[in-house]
Amino acid sequence: MALPRMQAALALNSIHGRSLLPYSVENLQENPLEQLFIGGRWMAALDGRSLPVINPADGQAFDQIARGAAAEVDMAVKAARSALDGAWGKLTATERGRLLIKLGNSVLDHHAELAALEARDTGKPMTTARNDITVLARYFEFYGSAADKLHGEVIPFLNGHHAVLMREPLGVTGHIIPWNYPAQMLGRTIAPALAAGNAVVLKPAEDTSLSALRVAELATEVGFPDGSINVVTGLGEEAGAALAGHPGIDFISFTGSNEVGTLVQQAAARNAVKCVLELGGKSPQILFEDADIERAVPIIVRAIVQNAGQTCTAGSRLLVQHSIYDRVVEQVAAAYAKVRVGTPAMDLDCGPVMNPAQQARVNRYIAAAKAAGIPLLAEGHIAEGVSPTGHWVTPTFFGPVPRDAQLACEEVFGPVLAAFPFKDEADAIALANGTPYGLLAAVWTENGSRQTRVAKAVKAGQLFINCYGAGGGVELPFGGTKRSGHGREKGFLALEEMSTTKTVIQYHG
Ligand code: NAP
Ligand code: MG
Repeated sequence: MALPRMQAALALNSIHGRSLLPYSVENLQENPLEQLFIGGRWMAALDGRSLPVINPADGQAFDQIARGAAAEVDMAVKAARSALDGAWGKLTATERGRLLIKLGNSVLDHHAELAALEARDTGKPMTTARNDITVLARYFEFYGSAADKLHGEVIPFLNGHHAVLMREPLGVTGHIIPWNYPAQMLGRTIAPALAAGNAVVLKPAEDTSLSALRVAELATEVGFPDGSINVVTGLGEEAGAALAGHPGIDFISFTGSNEVGTLVQQAAARNAVKCVLELGGKSPQILFEDADIERAVPIIVRAIVQNAGQTCTAGSRLLVQHSIYDRVVEQVAAAYAKVRVGTPAMDLDCGPVMNPAQQARVNRYIAAAKAAGIPLLAEGHIAEGVSPTGHWVTPTFFGPVPRDAQLACEEVFGPVLAAFPFKDEADAIALANGTPYGLLAAVWTENGSRQTRVAKAVKAGQLFINCYGAGGGVELPFGGTKRSGHGREKGFLALEEMSTTKTVIQYHG
């Protein structure tokens, strides 16, 4: 790709400490992944600007994407509206479903290529990237199969009347996704929207736009009509803000930080646009003294280390009944000390974190915990031979962590696990609910009544009993309570979120 030319141009100007490049038309023709996808056409940003694409494993630019902003978002929203008024809007639910299933098949046909692209863009291990692409395909399969099963109801009403609840698309839906699971996130958010008959405008994260662009290309190949899927790459505060505040959208789905989620909701509110927010988490793993510790330990470690802890559903708090605390912590520490961090090709337990800001953020939390004298129980290892300019952080395990420490209530979004002893069931529930978040939780106990009591008492959008499922689970409705957000994605509920109803009442005598 365009590496030498890009390196030569890297000093031009910068935003977020990242260099911005002018567009090269010659290069654009080589690589559609460097363009915006609007109304079925590839185009450069109107002002020709672009952003470099950085490999987190070495910190080097290896490609560029277009820096779309308000004008391009406006074009994309209009293209989506035209699609609804045109070919896309005329398709039957079965035909929409068929296209989605074809797209799922095409993703599987291009599995190796997409996994390699995703691994390079995110730095994650190849096995994780491969899994992400499999899940991406699952979203298109699941919602493709569901498209013609979404239907309305007949409502018993007055004599001489016929009342029908019709299920309809919302219209143009906006989707803003983060960089942690770019491929999974795009499938999770656009597949149900398309199945429900909406036309979508997607703003991927500036750090990880490549899989979205490639999927748009595959979607065209399998026959999605022009304008049904639009992808505008660019900066959050430019393209993202323009999309969230655009008066032509009918819905916005956002996954990312609480700060930006609030801005998105405020922008959407000005146009009375419905908003689904999937924000952060500080999810607890609660182990009672009768837990199957041997089964739990590897799952606990994987649930925080996976994706270098950059998972909204990461199991970042380990709550252990005091009678087994020492034993559990010792076993988790032994497993944690074996965690290895490396490049995608090394395919170890996790890769680098996404960008220098994230690296600094995670390291700040680790340094603050050490400075506060919180005992460090174990550290993983960064593999030998990795590039020194990659965004590496060392996985760390602390405990016991004071209940008022930063590590007890703030989302690190890195491979940092915090352990807490608890006394009894009531104490465990209070501790589990003692953060602003409520996304996921797990309870580990063989006592069935306790499983149910804890499952009912803990505030979370998903609760696991003797297992843990960070990521995946296309079939399982998912979303936050409290500051983790609102609205539901995944499963059938996403189809309800991304559609609306019309109640039609007829007098027939
Ligand atoms: P972020 O800024 O919230 O990014 C999420 C998405 O929102 C990206 O597409 C981003 O675009 C876009 N965005 C940024 N500013 C926007 C604005 N003003 N209006 C509309 N959209 C906007 O997240 P981040 O800065 O990449 O990461 C910061 C922290 O967020 C992380 O440390 C982590 O704690 C949290 N986070 C949570 C999740 C999750 O799944 N819950 C995912 C990622 C991050 P750009 O990429 O161009 O900025
Ligand atoms: Mg950002």
